[in-house]
Amino acid sequence: MIKDDWKEKLSCATHCYRCDQKLDPKDPRILSVYDHQAICTICKKEEEKRSDYEEVSKRTIGQCMVDTELQYGDPQGFCYHHFYPYKC
Ligand SMILES: [Zn+2]
Repeated sequence: MIKDDWKEKLSCATHCYRCDQKLDPKDPRILSVYDHQAICTICKKEEEKRSDYEEVSKRTIGQCMVDTELQYGDPQGFCYHHFYPYKC
């Protein structure tokens, strides 16, 4: 359940979930709209090229706001970090 574990997922992934590149705490990472995993910004660019990206990201963000009861623009929010890189 997203609502229960998103803070944990956001915290400090040590590797990109997609390409397994090591992530330093100071390296920016961002959440995948496909599986909510922390990925590196290079993988995010690849993800954005997928033909269904726009559709999936809209659906994800809608569901995300329902699940977390946070507003999209909340800078502390789980949903926000699908579109804006963060550091841990
Ligand atoms: Zn990566």
